[in-house]
Amino acid sequence: MESTRCLPPKAPPSGKKPFSPPPKASDALPLPLYLTNFIFFTLFFSVAYFLLHRWREKIRTSTPLHIVTLTEISAIVSLFASFIYLLGFFGIDFVQSIIYRSIESEVDDLDLLDSNNIPKNVMDESKTVSSEEDEDIIQSVVIGKTPSYSLESKLGDCYRAALIRREAVQRVTKRSLEGLPFDGFDYASILGQCCEMPIGYVQIPVGIAGPLLLNGCEYVVPMATTEGCLVASTNRGCKAIYTCGGATAILIKDGMTRAPVIRFSTAKRASHLKFFLEDPLHFDTLAVVFNKSSRFARLQRIQCSMAGKNLYIRFTCSTGDAMGMNMVSKGVQNVLDFLQSDFPDMDVIGISGNFCSDKKPSAVNWIEGRGKSVVCEAIITGDVVKKVLKTTVPALVELNMLKNLAGSAIAGALGGFNAHAANIVSAIFIATGQDPAQNVESSHCITMMEAINGGHDLHISVTMPSIEVGTVGGGTQLASQSACLNLLGVKGANKESPGSNSRLLSTIIAGSVLAGELSLMSAISAGQLVKSHMKYNRSNRDMSTIACQN
Ligand code: ADP
Repeated sequence: MESTRCLPPKAPPSGKKPFSPPPKASDALPLPLYLTNFIFFTLFFSVAYFLLHRWREKIRTSTPLHIVTLTEISAIVSLFASFIYLLGFFGIDFVQSIIYRSIESEVDDLDLLDSNNIPKNVMDESKTVSSEEDEDIIQSVVIGKTPSYSLESKLGDCYRAALIRREAVQRVTKRSLEGLPFDGFDYASILGQCCEMPIGYVQIPVGIAGPLLLNGCEYVVPMATTEGCLVASTNRGCKAIYTCGGATAILIKDGMTRAPVIRFSTAKRASHLKFFLEDPLHFDTLAVVFNKSSRFARLQRIQCSMAGKNLYIRFTCSTGDAMGMNMVSKGVQNVLDFLQSDFPDMDVIGISGNFCSDKKPSAVNWIEGRGKSVVCEAIITGDVVKKVLKTTVPALVELNMLKNLAGSAIAGALGGFNAHAANIVSAIFIATGQDPAQNVESSHCITMMEAINGGHDLHISVTMPSIEVGTVGGGTQLASQSACLNLLGVKGANKESPGSNSRLLSTIIAGSVLAGELSLMSAISAGQLVKSHMKYNRSNRDMSTIACQN
């Protein structure tokens, strides 16, 4: 019984006060509950036995029943007292359990009303939680008997596993997770794909910029960010582009890469494999082996680089609508297995040898490209530069040359010849379920500006050689991210033309970067940057009060 009185707190619905069980009468007892129960049980049964025994005696000796001794009076009083206690204990508990059930279902009903988009089964799962059993599991996790990572497989219920983990981590760390939402998320959807050991989720606001007029179509671009000014600024850039007839984006390359590192006993042997792989006569055979990894994987190129007796082989392939890391890795593994028969002395040190190069700034991606390579351009008239962007064409061109080109060269930039491509790339990446770490190379960008039409208008372009995006797999299938992809019309796999959705997404990202570059560069050239950031990035709230609250 005791454990039912220590219900793990039901997770607070987002933005609401956490629901904690109301105080119980037993909290006021001077002794631990189990000891008090034991004393009253013993008292009840021993006085009941005593009185029955006395009753039998009186019948045998024909003593009138109403003549009672002092001992018998105290026994009767004890019997009543213990009976009332036990009745109160079990009765109150029974009533409380009914009240709890109705409160819990009320909270669940409210959650369902608040979150129209949440799959119903997510909320229903909370009703299957058996608190007594859960308390035991929480204790077991707290003392380290049950590994936290095993909860999903042990319970077969992702929601419950996350709830138990969350409670256990609060108890172990003695730190509250209040403020980190829990309800309203489908924990089953991330299992084995997006995140391990979940305890909740972080909320990031999503704003929209647009319409972005790109290649004759309009897009409303979702951006997940906590940086004030970013969406507003990108929106202003979109307006300038729109007013001038839109931007044009061209996809110039599409291929994901993976480069294993192979060691030989001599550099000579390593070079044999290099020549073998680069011989055009072998390409078709290798492509057949590689392409077995998926009906969407198509080997495009094999590029080798040597470091002594170590060989780095960069495989490039198209991956349909998937970002493609899994696909390309499987293809590479197929080829490595195949090569073992002709090169039994090759020693595969790692399926990834960093010549790929994933999630690190590197010249190879900047020069050769990785994922989608896109160039996007627009002509902004002098009038729009003046009226919408509040600057002039010569000022923009000069700033671009001195900041994005010369300034970045001075800084020794690698792919960073832009004002803030990473801002727009990461915001769209997070909104649409891309891998945020790939923002590193996906934000490689060179922004060019030139005065045209006799110096009256501005030609602006962004060239981005390694935008790594997909519309299937990874985080793209989660409800919120998939809704943002849907807003852009690129949700999921494109059935008619596999790969078109992810390619379109990459061009939208480049178009949005163009808008972002245009607006920020204008703000800097007009000397507005600090002013607008103070307006949008700093609220009037007293930060010292906020700091004190935490
Ligand atoms: P990634 O390779 O980006 O990590 P996943 O392997 O997680 O992606 O997801 C790709 C999966 O989606 C593959 O199993 C693939 O067969 C499937 N798929 C379905 N339609 C498409 C499509 N149009 N383009 C690419 N993959 C697709």
